[in-house]
Amino acid sequence: MKRTNISVFIPHKGCPHRCSFCDQRSISGAAHAPTPQEVSELLEGQAQHLSDIGMTAEIAFFGGSFTAIPRDYMVSLLECAGSAVEKYPQVYSGIRCSTRPDCIDEETVSLLKKYGMTAVELGAQSMSGEVLVANERGHSPEDVRRAAKLIRESGISLGLQMMTGLYKDSEDAVRFTCREFIAMNPDTVRIYPTVILKGTRLGELYESGEYCSFGFEQTVDLCAELLREFTNAGIKVIRMGLHASKDVERDMLGGVYHPAFREIVESRLFLRDAENMLSRLPQGEYTLYTDPKNISRLTGQKRGNIAALSERGYSVKVKPCAGEYIRAELA
Ligand code: SF4
Repeated sequence: MKRTNISVFIPHKGCPHRCSFCDQRSISGAAHAPTPQEVSELLEGQAQHLSDIGMTAEIAFFGGSFTAIPRDYMVSLLECAGSAVEKYPQVYSGIRCSTRPDCIDEETVSLLKKYGMTAVELGAQSMSGEVLVANERGHSPEDVRRAAKLIRESGISLGLQMMTGLYKDSEDAVRFTCREFIAMNPDTVRIYPTVILKGTRLGELYESGEYCSFGFEQTVDLCAELLREFTNAGIKVIRMGLHASKDVERDMLGGVYHPAFREIVESRLFLRDAENMLSRLPQGEYTLYTDPKNISRLTGQKRGNIAALSERGYSVKVKPCAGEYIRAELA
């Protein structure tokens, strides 16, 4: 059965922080905080629709720091979500939220557990203390470790979110974050290359020439490395790059954004593996066989991988072969 999320956006009005990358206007401005009644109506309405199309869904409270909103409001939303899960168990498979690492403590975790929370994602962003301070996150790497441990021990699924290319970031700091994440053994990870938006501290630093995020190709290579590390550790990477958004496209000053970012990263991994395999063979014409589902990733966007291999002296054609990852045969 196919799965989806029913997202409930909870604007975090009056967030006391001022993270360098966050456009607070978009999250604390006009966005309407849904009432419990509205959430119940949404979930009721969606239940029949999901059932008709044969899908299950998690109820996802996104948009800021769920556990930092007023406690009564948080509980009232959890009650609505919990009732929907109880009433439509064949449709709603659980409840998830995202929050800040310093907004998690034992009491909060037991409250989430009591109301049936199944997954919590922590916006860690980096495990480098220097990067966290430079980007005014207001929490430490130790806050992330502590919160992750509490969530893990409660039996709630743990998700961790990281960014690449923040102010004062480096490739080494990103790799360190990756290793630290793996040590915390999350179930899922999301990776967001930094997008520099108008109206943010990063935007000011960028316009003054003080800061420039990682380049596009550098980020693709780095994210390919991260994807491989997390996958090898058995950790699912459930998102790479911001969702396609007209607002982001309009307000972006710099940084890395592409609506098909993950596909580009996966394609880079195929290129690296094909290069590695061919480097042991003499230059020449080859047919590369791969499973039909991998054809576009091996070929690359606009046949970019084929062109890159050709520059290295390998003229390749890609053909489908069920179950293959990459197999090379002389043409
Ligand atoms: S990203 Fe930072 S500034 Fe923006 S809502 Fe979250 S904690 Fe507040």
